[in-house]
Amino acid sequence: MKNWKKTSIWTTVILIAILIGAFYIFNLSISIPSGDIEFSPKNEITSIDSEFLGPKPKNIIIFIADGMGFGHLSLAMQTQQSENTPSVWNSFDMKGWHDARSAYGSLTDSEASATAMATGTSTNFGHIGIDQDENPLKNIFEIASDQGYSTGIVTDSYVWDGTPAAFSSHIRNEDDARNILTQIAASEIDLLFGELEDVGENDVPEEEESFEILKKRFTMLDPTLEIPSNARSKPIAAIFKEDEIQDMSSTPNLLQCTQTALTYMSAQNKPFALLVECEELDSASHENDSKRVLNGLESIQQTLTHILKFAEQNGETLVIFTGDHETGGLAAVSDFNNYPKLQIRWSTKSHTAAVVPLFAFGPGASFFADVNRNWEIGNKMIQILLSNEQEDE
Ligand SMILES: [Zn+2]
Repeated sequence: MKNWKKTSIWTTVILIAILIGAFYIFNLSISIPSGDIEFSPKNEITSIDSEFLGPKPKNIIIFIADGMGFGHLSLAMQTQQSENTPSVWNSFDMKGWHDARSAYGSLTDSEASATAMATGTSTNFGHIGIDQDENPLKNIFEIASDQGYSTGIVTDSYVWDGTPAAFSSHIRNEDDARNILTQIAASEIDLLFGELEDVGENDVPEEEESFEILKKRFTMLDPTLEIPSNARSKPIAAIFKEDEIQDMSSTPNLLQCTQTALTYMSAQNKPFALLVECEELDSASHENDSKRVLNGLESIQQTLTHILKFAEQNGETLVIFTGDHETGGLAAVSDFNNYPKLQIRWSTKSHTAAVVPLFAFGPGASFFADVNRNWEIGNKMIQILLSNEQEDE
């Protein structure tokens, strides 16, 4: 073989070896198995130093969108804004995020995250209104009631579900519906709108028994949500069947329930604290049901638009909007063959470790700008409730 031929063969072999090597190294650098990423527990701070300095909001509304992460928010922004109309998502005074991890690790469930937000203390999976050692924690509604507030819960889920339960009960077993309903009836909560689910199964009482428990505190409204004139200053409840409140096509929907709740609360002649929960995104994302996610986002947008309008006109209402965790690892993607149409892609049917949106509007909104963890939201709401500044009358 001639010398120049030998040289060119060797050059080709070396080049191929370099290319294979580079490909191998490149591949190695991007394919870190997820199990190898270490969880950083981050030091558990149990109290924060910053003090709330006025102006103190008279009312507090916390809106929790169960399972909503930045992927869901991005999808809402990309699909909901019609031309020349300002998006509800642009209307907040403060836009931030929080890390919703539980005391146990990088993931959380609704029970642990809602408890952190309701009580200002990080806790474990399945812990409702109790700390890691199962000691009861005072929640913001109990503190608000002590301060002369009326309090209310509106949810499109069942009333003993993790999120509403964290604001009304103290219990280890999230399936003990009878116990949670009994605790709700023994609480100081003035308004309760939501559903029942799995009636008659395991620890879930039949509808009739559930109503008997709730009637100990509440005047029960009929499905029209009409408040009888003799009940306008009494605790009221409206209880619907499973999945009866789902999206904007439901009767009632989350918007109608929230409208009635705000009318009732503002007629009480005292400050109020209200929880509004949209659970739709979590259920939809667990099933990777993209259509249902879009319907859930529509329900959130319309309800939130009404709440922000109320807060703007009222002028003394702080609105906090957030998720309790992200579900599904949702991403809105687009490819250039079908541009600019969007596709929804999912990475799991479970909860993810993603940080979630945290927005605030109204007096006190900027107090939430330096939040890092979910429990700080509860801690800050408690500081507002306990601050000595006189509210404007
Ligand atoms: Zn979930």
